[in-house]
Amino acid sequence: MLLAPLFSTDDLRRWRSCERRFWLARHRLQRGEPVAAHEPPADLDVALRASFPHADTVAPPQTPSQWVQAMRHTLDCLDSDEHLPEGWAILGACLTSEDRVQVRIDVLGAAEGGGLRLYKVRHATVGDDSDIDTVALWTHVAARCGFAVQGAGLLLVNTDFVYPGHGCYAGLFREVDLRPVLGARPVAHWLDSMRHCERGAEPAATPGPHCHQGEGCEFAASCKACQPPPAPGHAVDSLDILGREAAAHWRTIGASSVHDLRVEQLESPRLQRAVRAVQQGAPVIEPAVAAIARGWPHPRHCLRFDTIGMAVPVWSGTRPYQTLPFQWSCASETADGQWTEQHFLADGQGSDPRRAFAQTLLRALGTEGAVLAYNAGFERNRIRELAQWFDDLAPALDALQPRIVDLFQIAREHFYHPVMAGSWSFRSVARAVAPELDMDVRLDPALGERANPTAQSVYALMQKPGQRLPVRHACREALQAHGQRETVVLRRLLDVMERAGD
Ligand code: SF4
Repeated sequence: MLLAPLFSTDDLRRWRSCERRFWLARHRLQRGEPVAAHEPPADLDVALRASFPHADTVAPPQTPSQWVQAMRHTLDCLDSDEHLPEGWAILGACLTSEDRVQVRIDVLGAAEGGGLRLYKVRHATVGDDSDIDTVALWTHVAARCGFAVQGAGLLLVNTDFVYPGHGCYAGLFREVDLRPVLGARPVAHWLDSMRHCERGAEPAATPGPHCHQGEGCEFAASCKACQPPPAPGHAVDSLDILGREAAAHWRTIGASSVHDLRVEQLESPRLQRAVRAVQQGAPVIEPAVAAIARGWPHPRHCLRFDTIGMAVPVWSGTRPYQTLPFQWSCASETADGQWTEQHFLADGQGSDPRRAFAQTLLRALGTEGAVLAYNAGFERNRIRELAQWFDDLAPALDALQPRIVDLFQIAREHFYHPVMAGSWSFRSVARAVAPELDMDVRLDPALGERANPTAQSVYALMQKPGQRLPVRHACREALQAHGQRETVVLRRLLDVMERAGD
């Protein structure tokens, strides 16, 4: 190859993060092998088009000939003699500068008083350094193409926006002017350094947090010096399970693990319980909890909610990132020990599920019995919000509040298992009471979801406009299985508490 491929926004992003990452990607490109490109989320694209109704859109080019067409399309739009209506812009404008950089600009529009303004769109409420680098590069390329860039910035999600419905997203984005900070970005110098790096030898690995930031480096698995990020949590007998301050205290007086402590040296009954459990290698459950658990009236309902906060709201009356419930899972036990399971998943595309969520929940929970949740403040708050939204359901929803029992509070004061490693999170407790359950959400990666899906990402995939029926079915099954596993954990925890002291 006589000429190396043109530089792109992704090249700059990699080079600023790690020279080796940039070098590996560029040499892969030179060999004609594919390198992952950053793609903007599809829902943002829909909202952007709605925010710029008079925009010209340039389709994302994939091949060199498509790039030529895309650039011609961009230049034709910019050359037009027609009057440009207010709100006009080019979405995905493609430009190539004579110093061999090729970029696709999210929004390129006319500035008041002449010249152009350009914006990078972020699926976030704040931008970061990498966004400023990108806007600096785009400004450099547009200027090298002979355009007067009068405005440059970010379009960020405005959390005050309330979606009125009907696809109207005017006001979803807020502009952040980056011109005052762009001068400190020496783009021409960076491009020289990138060329120099590309021609040189393979740079040494410089492992660090940058290897795992964002979506992570695509070469992390093969980069031998690069260690995986530390797993969350601590070793079961680490002093850190007692909390940072307590661990520091015990280290200063010579202890190196929980085994070096005497239980009576600790003041807090909770920490005493943790130390006892670790030293005896078995869980500790206070017998007094049995009477508390047996006192919870039947029918007992083990309840879990799943919620989502979407950057681009799809239900009218909601805001970006507002916490919205989409699934509840409930296992109920009658006084004679019979268990039944019920479930609700909002899967009607486009319609607001909150009312159906509230109505089905009220039917499932009835008017009697304890409602057992873990970190119950979360469920309480969602029920309170539902009551605020639906006046007619408010009395019944409000009547649920005094029935709610927080198993987290009870577990914290009565239970510790060594595998919890100092954490009372739902996952830690699940490891203790239901070790055979895999609490990760499982979905076939071939369906287009990322490697480690969450309930939220699977729900977003299911709700994607035009999503294929088999994918929707698979998502539904994955979410239901996830909800069911969570109620199993609550049932096991209840069982552990009732049997305490037996
Ligand atoms: S894994 Fe880390 S050190 Fe290796 S290329 Fe990627 S970012 Fe650089």
